[in-house]
Amino acid sequence: MTNPDRPAAWGILPAEWKPLCAEMGIPAYRSAQILNGLYQQFAQSWHDITTLPKELRETLAQRVTLAPLRVEAVQDSPDGVQKLLLACADGERVETVMIPSKGRLTQCISTQVGCSFKCAFCASGRHGRVRDLTADEIVGQVMAACELMRPAAAGNDAGQESPARLGGAKPALPRPGNIVVMGMGEPFDNYDNTLRALRILNDQKAVSIGARHITVSTCGVVPGIRRFAEEGIQFELSVSLHAPHDVLRDRLMPVNRRWPVAELVAACRDYFEKTGRVVTFEYTLIKNANDRPHHTDELIRLLRGMPCKINLIPLSPVEGFDGKCPDERTCLAFLDTLLKAGFNTTLRKSRGKEVSAACGQLRLRAQTGGGA
Ligand code: SAH
Repeated sequence: MTNPDRPAAWGILPAEWKPLCAEMGIPAYRSAQILNGLYQQFAQSWHDITTLPKELRETLAQRVTLAPLRVEAVQDSPDGVQKLLLACADGERVETVMIPSKGRLTQCISTQVGCSFKCAFCASGRHGRVRDLTADEIVGQVMAACELMRPAAAGNDAGQESPARLGGAKPALPRPGNIVVMGMGEPFDNYDNTLRALRILNDQKAVSIGARHITVSTCGVVPGIRRFAEEGIQFELSVSLHAPHDVLRDRLMPVNRRWPVAELVAACRDYFEKTGRVVTFEYTLIKNANDRPHHTDELIRLLRGMPCKINLIPLSPVEGFDGKCPDERTCLAFLDTLLKAGFNTTLRKSRGKEVSAACGQLRLRAQTGGGA
């Protein structure tokens, strides 16, 4: 059982290991071996790191939690998308999705169990927010994916001692090439844990995924966007817009009542001014709700003159929301108008439908016994 008073290994920044070792009476040079065991060998238990003396592994096992999330379900979609349902130590469940594309693997990770924001079309918020994930649990989702990707020859004997597996320098084990924080939860509603996790994922001494390959998506928590602009790391920012004006956005996304469209777009403009980084606006296309030509015109007026990208996402149907996905012609027409207006726009192919890959669907099904 996880002890809340003990630090958890995947939530510790590489720079924090030396002082932590000092506190535990462990020589500072061991911290490099610990980091190597955690992030080059993907140790699943302290006893796996056989480059460390046995007593040291025992001290670590007593003082620092190293607890992989338990894989409860793996669902494979014919297009290669894989969805994992993972259980935390307290039994709460989180989802993560692995999406292979052009030789790279993109992993979509969650930051909360459930979500408070209740966007009309999103399964994550259906039953509200249960709790924030810790940094360890956020990084733990990536570690679970890494464990799954471990080449068979390197062994799949999590929890057992295997000197051959962890000893000596070996080529880096496979890990995701891109991370998108687009799973369950609102990252800026769990800001500190999310940023800590992203720094660990980015750190060269830890998971070492380039900042430009890490994208955070927010439903429009303006103070979070403003804070994110000050972080000084080149993470990518996506903003879920979904509607070009307040009347519609209020209906689809209650967060808009707190931070309306004008305030949101102003924060994004400032974000660009401050960081020089282009924001991506996500726009989920919902039949007859936000996919009409006048919506395109309003969107163009709203974003005119602002360096940005637009990512159109055909709605993935969810239980409890009666919106439908527009037909392909409508989606392409929407795309075409934005392209002609000079916006860098993409239309996302909806993937992983077979595994209920839209935000929060798998957990919702597991929770309601809906045949996941
Ligand atoms: N809370 C964050 C991140 C999680 S959702 C946010 O709102 O941005 C990631 C993206 O998936 C968001 O753009 C969200 O609006 C979108 N999304 C959620 N449910 C969807 C569905 N059923 N169909 C299409 N996109 C969906």
